Amino acid sequence: MSSSVPQKVRGMQDIFGEYQRYFNFLKKVARHEFRKNGFTRISTPIVEMQELIVRSAGIGSDVVSKEMYSFQDRKGRELVLKPESTAGVMRAYLENFLDEPQPVYLYYIEPHFRYDRPQKGRYRQFHQVGAEIIGEIDPVLDAKMIHIGCSVLDNIGLKGRYKLKLNSLGVAKEREKYVQELQSFFEARAHLLDETDIARLRANPLRILDSKNEDVKELLKVAPKITDFLKKESKDFYSKVKAYLDILGVEYEEDHTLVRGLDYYSHTVWEWVDGSGRTQDAFGGGGRYDDLSKNIGHKESVPAVGFALGAERLIETLVDTGVKLRNKDAIHLYFIQLGEDATKMILPLSIEARNRGVNSMLSLGTPSLKVQMKKANRLWARYVAIVGIMEAKKGICQLKDMLNGTQEELRLSDLLDRVVANIDAKELDFYSPTKDFVIEEPKTDSEPSENS
Ligand code: AMP
Repeated sequence: MSSSVPQKVRGMQDIFGEYQRYFNFLKKVARHEFRKNGFTRISTPIVEMQELIVRSAGIGSDVVSKEMYSFQDRKGRELVLKPESTAGVMRAYLENFLDEPQPVYLYYIEPHFRYDRPQKGRYRQFHQVGAEIIGEIDPVLDAKMIHIGCSVLDNIGLKGRYKLKLNSLGVAKEREKYVQELQSFFEARAHLLDETDIARLRANPLRILDSKNEDVKELLKVAPKITDFLKKESKDFYSKVKAYLDILGVEYEEDHTLVRGLDYYSHTVWEWVDGSGRTQDAFGGGGRYDDLSKNIGHKESVPAVGFALGAERLIETLVDTGVKLRNKDAIHLYFIQLGEDATKMILPLSIEARNRGVNSMLSLGTPSLKVQMKKANRLWARYVAIVGIMEAKKGICQLKDMLNGTQEELRLSDLLDRVVANIDAKELDFYSPTKDFVIEEPKTDSEPSENS
C-alpha cells in the first residue's frame, strides 16, 4: 500500500473559499427567485434505481450510454448516482404529491454525477439549480419557467451576457415522422458523415443535430426541420409560448436544431448559452416533459415543465466576467492576547462582538505578538485589538486599523462602539435564529378539543 494520502477523485472538486461564496450567492439568488414564484425546495436522494434513469433519459442518451455512475448495492440492486434530478423529482412527485393541489412547484439545488471527460466547466460531480412545475399543461407555464430562469441569470450579474435558444419538439407522433425523414436525409448522404455521426444516426438520429462536424452543420441548414412536422395543436402551443414570452419581455432566438440530450422532452425546449460566443457550452436548459411519467412506468401522462442551470459553469462565468462578491466571511476584529488576564478580558468582548453583528476571532495559544499580527494579516482582518499584560491591568487595548495602518489606545469598554462605528453597516451580520422559529406548547389532554 502506498504511504501517500489518496488524492481527490478525478473530475470532482472541493468547494471552499471564494468558490463557495459564489456558490452560496447563486443559491441565495435562486432561492429568492423561486420563493417569490411559489416554489418549495425538494431534495431527492443522491442514489436512484438505475431503471428510473434508463427509462427517463433514454437508452440512446449520452447520460445513460456513457456517463452513468452505476453500481450494485449489497443486495444486488442496480443503482446509480443521479446524473440529473428531473427523473427523481418526477418519481418523488408520483410518490408524494398526487393528492396535493396541482400543479406542484418544486425547486432543487443538488449535486449530480456524470462520468464525462473532465475539463473546465465539465466535472464528474457538478451541481444544478433547477425547478419543475408538475401536474398542469398550459403554455404560460413554459413561458413563466423561462422567465424565472432568465431572472436568476440576470440577478446573479449575467444580464445581457447570455442568449436564449428556443425550439419546439412537438409530440411523440410528430417527432417520429420527423426522425424518419431526418434519418433518410442523412442516410442518403452517409458518405459525408464521420464514424461518430454515423453511429449517432443509427442509434438516436436526433443526436445528429448536436454534431460538431462542419459538413453536417451545412447539411442541417437544408435538412428537414422539426417545426415543419408540427400539427396545428403543437404549432398553436408553440405560438402561445412565444406570445407569452413577448409579454414577459423575454428575448429569444429560435433554433430548430435544438433537441437537448435527454429523450423525455416534448413541445417547448430551450437552452441558455453564453452570449459572448466564446464557448459552445450552455449555462443550462429546460423543456416540457409530458411523457416522462409514462416512460418511467406511471399509468398516466403527467404534464410537466422544468429547467436546470449548471452551477459550476455559472460561477466560472461570473469569475471570468469580473463579477466580484462582498466577502461576508471577512474578519472585522481580531483579538490578540498576551497572557491569561488578557484572555479573560477579551472573552466577554468576543460575545458582545457577535451580538453586535461583528465577525471576530481570538488569537489562541501563546505565540508572539509578531506571529499573531502575521496571522491577522493573512486573514485580512479589518481591525486588531491588542491586549498585553499592561493593557489587561489598565482595562485598555491598542486598536490597530489594518487598512490604513494607524493605531490608538482605547478603553476596552469603548472598543466595540468604535469598531461598529467604523465598519460599513452592510457588513454587520445580525442573523438571529429566534426570528425563524416559535416553540409551540404541547397540547395537554385536559385542553378542550376543537369540536367540543
Ligand atoms: P443537462 O442536464 O445536460 O441539460 O445540463 C444542464 C446544464 O448543467 C448544462 O447546460 C451545464 O451548464 C450543466 N452541466 C451538465 N453537465 C455538466 C458537467 N459534467 N459538469 C458541469 N456542468 C454540467
